[in-house]
This record gives sequence, structure tokens and C-alpha cells, in this order.
Amino acid sequence: MTTPLEGLPPDFALRDEDVPAAPERGDEPGRALPLTVVRSLCDALPLLESMASRDFRVAVELIIDTGRRPDEICQLAWDCTRQDSDGGWLLIYDNIKEQRLGRELPITEATANLIHEQKRVARGRFPHTDPRELKLLAHVRRNPRGVHGLVEDTLASWHREWVDSLPPMITPEGQEFLKEDIVPYSHRHTYAQRHADAGVPVDVLSELMDHRSLAVTQTYYRVSAVRRREAVDTVARHQLDRHGAPAWREAQTLLDGQRARYARQAISQVAVPFGSCEEPSNVQAGGGACPFRWQCGGCDHFRTDASYLPELKAYVDELRRTKERVLAATGLDDWARERALPSEEENARVKHLIARVEDDLDQLTDTERHELEEAITLVRRSRRVVSLGMPHGRQPSPNLRLERP
Ligand code: SF4
Repeated sequence: MTTPLEGLPPDFALRDEDVPAAPERGDEPGRALPLTVVRSLCDALPLLESMASRDFRVAVELIIDTGRRPDEICQLAWDCTRQDSDGGWLLIYDNIKEQRLGRELPITEATANLIHEQKRVARGRFPHTDPRELKLLAHVRRNPRGVHGLVEDTLASWHREWVDSLPPMITPEGQEFLKEDIVPYSHRHTYAQRHADAGVPVDVLSELMDHRSLAVTQTYYRVSAVRRREAVDTVARHQLDRHGAPAWREAQTLLDGQRARYARQAISQVAVPFGSCEEPSNVQAGGGACPFRWQCGGCDHFRTDASYLPELKAYVDELRRTKERVLAATGLDDWARERALPSEEENARVKHLIARVEDDLDQLTDTERHELEEAITLVRRSRRVVSLGMPHGRQPSPNLRLERP
């Protein structure tokens, strides 16, 4: 009979570094909250303050804003911010789970202000405690010096009670979201998913999440791809041709067939400044070979939708400015002036498209409009800005901090 260590030399030893690290758990994607649910929670933060206390409200707000684990927020030191060389604010926290202390996370000015206000409140409550020992969110019982942070379980209980007291949460698809799936940790998933959806590079998000393994962060991008596909489908249902007529047939073609549909759309269209082009030779050339000198507004191969509304409006403005400039210019031959002037037809066509898109939006119910707006936000974030020498509106940079009441 053999024993487990039989045959090994007497000086055999296992050191700590020989033991492989346990896999990172707890950051599984797919558990992020829909934006509509997070918005409802943000609107209801004052209720949490009246049910529990200001500290619990600030704790939840900080978890939403920073995506830190609940215990990391509960144990924040009183002096937990610093400014970097550019004047931006950093949150200093301990990654308790991984035993990595003194980590730094960039935060917005609004989140920094929230922390600074809380610092003032905590200092006022415990004026004689050494600031190095004081917690930002000190619990109230048996803690006369404020050196103990909120208890994570108590935070979870108040969070549960608060969420259960709220009206039903409705998803963008119009379904009721299960309240038992809304726990403090959900805000960390939501933070990660929001950044992945906004196109933050995976290595940057991995740093922000303080993940040890890039593979854990990458899973949020797989979910993101699915969500983008769904968003593209939603927007495609509202696609219009150059006359402003619904391009339903084409949209339906895109919607047919499960996985192939996205790939088909990706290869059968190419982006132009305020819509897309389906002209095969131009698509094949990646958008650089328009046979008609990019007269998209008058071309049968052109498609647009509500997600291009800002670019369409910017283009009308640009046409007006160009007209004024050309008419005021001196030193232009008549034929050159005539060619440089934007045509009235083009102006009228783009204005008509804007009216049709707005009309289309007016027909929607509140739920449909909400669903479309979310899809548009997602689609625009991942959209490449196209110029082709034509004017375009700037893509708004994503503001990842959700509004507060
Ligand atoms: S005019 Fe615009 S839509 Fe038509 S083929 Fe050229 S790029 Fe495509």
C-alpha cells in the first residue's frame, strides 16, 4: 500500500507561492441591472435615507458610482480621496477580497463632492477622533469614536427592505424585473457592464475593476456584444430610406436568422456621415468608393434612422452656413459658385428626413420610446464617426455617472 507522499525526498516542501490562486468569483457578467432599473433606484435614494440613514444612502450611491464591492465602501477611510497631477479625483480604497490595499480609482467630480460632503458630516459627528482612524461611513452602535465602518450585512438588509418597498421595476422590454436580483453587489456588475457597453478598452476596465485576470473582465464584453446586437436590431426597426419611408423589408431581412443577422448587416452596409450605405461596390470598398460622390440624400442606397438625428440636424445647419458663405464670397466664377452652393433639393430632403424621424418617434408609446432611446445610446457609443469630407456632429462622450434626483 502506498501513501500520498511516498517516493518524495525528505526535503520536499510546498510553499505558499506553489498553491495556485483561487479563481476570481463574484464578478459574473449577465447580472448587471438594466438602465431603467438603475434609474428608478437612483430616483428612490432619498427614500433609502429616510428609511435607514444618510450613511446608508451615501454607501449605496458610492457603490453605484464606483462599482466597488459593498465591504470596500463600508470600510472606506475618512480621508479616502486625493487629486492626481491633472486635478482629477481618485478614490483610495482597499481591495479586501484580494488583499490589495491602497488601490486608486478615478472618480467623477460629482462623486468626489459626495465623498467630501460625507467627510464633513463624519468629522462633525466625531470631532475628536484621529482622522487616520476615522471611517467615512461609521456605524452608529457601540462605536463612540467612529473607527468602525458600516456592517456589510446591515447594509444588505436595508438595501433589501428599500428595494422591496419600491413599486415594480420595469425593464426596457416592458417586463417586471425580479427584485430579489437587486442586491448591493449588482451595482458592481452594472458598473462593469456600463463601461464595457461604452467601449472602454478591456485592459482599462480590468484595471478599474481591479481584476487579477483579464479573462474575468472579458466576459463583460461578450454580454456587451449581445446587447449591442439587440440594440442594432431595435434601431433597425425604425430605419428609413432617403424618401423617409420605412425600410421595413430590409430591416426585417436583418432581423431574420439568429446569429447571421448581425454579421449580414455588418457586411451589407457601410457607414456614411448620417446613415448607412448599401451600395455593393462601396460596401466592398469599405465606404471609400461611392460611385455618386456621396450624394447620399438623393441616393436609393442610403438608409438612416433615429440614431442619426443629431447628425442630420447638424448637416442642415452646415448646409445653411455653406450657402451663406458661398453667397457672400467674392472671387468665385459663376459656375464655381453654382457648384459650391448646396442644392435646395438636398436641403429639403434632409429636412424631410428629420421630420419623418421625429414623426416616427412621436408615434411610439412611452415604453417603446424608452426602449429605442436606450438602444440608440448603446448604438451611438459603439459607432465609428465617419467624415468623408462631409460635416458631421460630434459623438457625445459617455457620461457614465447616472443622474441623481
Ligand atoms: S451616395 Fe451615399 S448612399 Fe449612395 S452609393 Fe454613395 S455613399 Fe452610398
